[in-house]
Amino acid sequence: MGKEERTVLRKKKKDLTELIKKRKLIFGNLSSVYLPCGKPSCKCARGFLHGPMWRITWKEKDKRSAILYIQRNRLEQAKRGVSDYKEAKKLLKEIGLLNLSLFRKEEKKK
Ligand SMILES: [Zn+2]
Repeated sequence: MGKEERTVLRKKKKDLTELIKKRKLIFGNLSSVYLPCGKPSCKCARGFLHGPMWRITWKEKDKRSAILYIQRNRLEQAKRGVSDYKEAKKLLKEIGLLNLSLFRKEEKKK
């Protein structure tokens, strides 16, 4: 592994550590939907659905799907948490790939 690769690796490890320490990473996918409320007299029964309603969807450890609807005033926090989680996941993969590259080069030297 070259000097440049080592610098990149060090930076990515630092970025990942900062993310984990300083942010509240949230697992899941954020999406919005328009839904009917179910009241027959409501405008939504004529096709004017309520929304957008924001929600986080995810798979539990046992693979069951789960949904959490989010209050409007917590939407920004949810967006940040979900995008920070994705960023951390991306960084972790990049670190893993750089370490794999290093591991491979060490194997060849033997
Ligand atoms: Zn309605």
